[in-house]
Amino acid sequence: MISSTDHEHMKRVRERVSQMDAIIASTATNIKLPLHDIMRLGRQAKQSLSTAKRVFWLRKMSAAAENVASANAACRRGCSHCCHIDVMVSRPEAAQIARETGQQMMEPLAAQSLQEVARTQAEGIQPRYTGEPCPFLEDGECSIYDSRPLACRVHFNMDVDDLLCRLIEGCNISVPYLDVTLLRAISLEVIGLNAEYADIRDWFGANRLPGS
Ligand code: SF4
Repeated sequence: MISSTDHEHMKRVRERVSQMDAIIASTATNIKLPLHDIMRLGRQAKQSLSTAKRVFWLRKMSAAAENVASANAACRRGCSHCCHIDVMVSRPEAAQIARETGQQMMEPLAAQSLQEVARTQAEGIQPRYTGEPCPFLEDGECSIYDSRPLACRVHFNMDVDDLLCRLIEGCNISVPYLDVTLLRAISLEVIGLNAEYADIRDWFGANRLPGS
């Protein structure tokens, strides 16, 4: 049952969606991802021998894109909509986050290859954790900011504000996220095509150490 407030919200959403082509065209002219830097940092990651180094260079690569995109994105400090949706993390990256933060990693029941993740999404199977906060979200802010997953670093809504990010139960709203296909492809190659992926809540949810 959608409330009258939600009806009003959906009316605004529909208006915004009808303006989206113009909004995206205007932000796209301001965003030129630094492809040379992205490729260079991606190569550094590929040449690295340890997981720690590979993740280090992938984070640098993400930062190169983030530096350009953030000024034109709707995302702001204290906004945590994307900490309430599924966040897929590979096993090597989860292990690196565990080493850096001292959090204990769990063995997830639902680890999948990236191909399985893509197939699940293509089949339209609903995300599992919509509305459920990430275990690292504290007082509306990320408590592991320096170690946050790659998926969180380049997750930008390129709209003018967070209207389309706001979750309404039963409504599937498409958000104009920054296209990071290239960064994902490089990360996939670096982390390994056969790596297992699971949601951050599956790696860390139940074993989150209180207050750390
Ligand atoms: S790791 Fe941090 S940024 Fe990423 S979803 Fe969790 S709280 Fe949000």
